[in-house]
Amino acid sequence: MPLPDAHGPLAHAAGTSTADALDVRWNHGVAAWRRPLLGRRPGGPRPEPPIQVHRHDEHTVVLRQSKVLTYEAPFLYLLFGDDRALLLDTGATEDPGLFPLRATVDALIDDWLDRHPRRGAQPYGLVVAHSHGHNDHVAGDGQFAWPGTTVVGRDADAVREYFGFGPGGVPWPTAIAELELGDRRLEVLATPGHHESAITLYDPRTGFLLTGDTVLPGRLYIDDAPAFAASLDRMVDFARHRKITQVLGAHVEMTRRDGRDYPIGARHQPREAPLALAPERLTAVREAVREVAGRSGVFRHRDFVLYVEPSERDMARLLRRGNRRDRARRALELALRPLTAR
Ligand SMILES: [Zn+2]
Repeated sequence: MPLPDAHGPLAHAAGTSTADALDVRWNHGVAAWRRPLLGRRPGGPRPEPPIQVHRHDEHTVVLRQSKVLTYEAPFLYLLFGDDRALLLDTGATEDPGLFPLRATVDALIDDWLDRHPRRGAQPYGLVVAHSHGHNDHVAGDGQFAWPGTTVVGRDADAVREYFGFGPGGVPWPTAIAELELGDRRLEVLATPGHHESAITLYDPRTGFLLTGDTVLPGRLYIDDAPAFAASLDRMVDFARHRKITQVLGAHVEMTRRDGRDYPIGARHQPREAPLALAPERLTAVREAVREVAGRSGVFRHRDFVLYVEPSERDMARLLRRGNRRDRARRALELALRPLTAR
């Protein structure tokens, strides 16, 4: 897509960010049989980089942590405003040596500031917030303990306080809060259900609805079914009054076959479903949740699978499927060992 004016301040680019589909070939891990071969010879094939960086437009970056590092392979979002940037989520790995998130984000900010020099004396800010508090979305927080960077806490109280929900602010979870980045005002929906501190962000500039683990092409683990159903109702209602181009979650776990997810722990997803869901799928998730109200269990749909307050048996079955795949992978690696040792 053509980029908006790369030399003017953000204000000049208003409205130029478009509804283009997120047309990206995401890194999706490396086959088990290739992993031992990679990086052995200089100039030979390399495993994936720890972080894939996709510049959606001049002011919007989508990052994916590599499946070589963690099967979770979460997606992270970096949005630039005139006054500060927002990083949504910090990935599943703490160690900056393995997962250089801070260095990557700093380089992206420096690069952006080169093209959009600051006019005032105020330094450019960075807010690090989370789609929710699960470890695969907050592990890199420590890399951002830095003056000038605000790291929003991961628990529900910290989230409510930072975004202005609760006493003295707008009611949680029914009202909509705002986060101003400087000529880029995001709307913040409280969407508990998968996790009590889960939020969903809407960016009017791109039309992105960033849903974390609440809605994504994969397993929707529903911890609190009534809260989740109410969150989806609010989301669908919100979507009716906004121009949403893409619903973007934090993982891809579905294959391209209808109703078929990868086993948990999969480190290679060569035929994974696209990250973006069409806005209409919010309604599909909402209807699916309504249909099974009061029941728990696993419910498969074309591009998502509901895990509604899953029983220990449901989870054991999911883990067994992952373990079977792990055992097969290990057997394959053992079989290949003499070959790779040459
Ligand atoms: Zn997650």
